[in-house]
Amino acid sequence: MPIRKNLAVHRDPYLPLMGPKEVAVCRHCGAVYHRKRWSLESPPVAVEGRTIRSVVCPACQKMHDSFPGGIIVLSGEFLKPHKEQIIGLVRNEEARAKKNNPLERIISIKDNGNGVEIQTTSDRFAQRIGMEIQRAYKGDITYHWSRDDKFIRVKWHRDRTE
Ligand SMILES: [Zn+2]
Repeated sequence: MPIRKNLAVHRDPYLPLMGPKEVAVCRHCGAVYHRKRWSLESPPVAVEGRTIRSVVCPACQKMHDSFPGGIIVLSGEFLKPHKEQIIGLVRNEEARAKKNNPLERIISIKDNGNGVEIQTTSDRFAQRIGMEIQRAYKGDITYHWSRDDKFIRVKWHRDRTE
């Protein structure tokens, strides 16, 4: 389990600046920002003095800009015969994440023949996918954070095919 050196909270430049009573709704995916968190709950009813803003949520912006928070690179001999299965696991993680945090999404899954590259909107989500892949398929994994701990590069490799 990697330990993050810097636990200071960096403001995500993609998060809208909002007052504590404001509510924002993403006009692309419908995610709702309320009380400092994003969810897929229905937006709270309008009350007096409350502003409901129409925004583009950070995940939709990152997907639009192709600005990943994490990249996972899968490689090794083991990958080819198990590719479908492993990508299935990644898709399951995505479905699970969607229920808890609508900002955790997969931007793309690219198969370049030698390996697979998965881009995600958040670093934590990429880390979790890496951990799940290793839990299920063993192999070697490295996690490398950069960009003020807002970006992670995960490398997973397994050669043994037995
Ligand atoms: Zn959105």
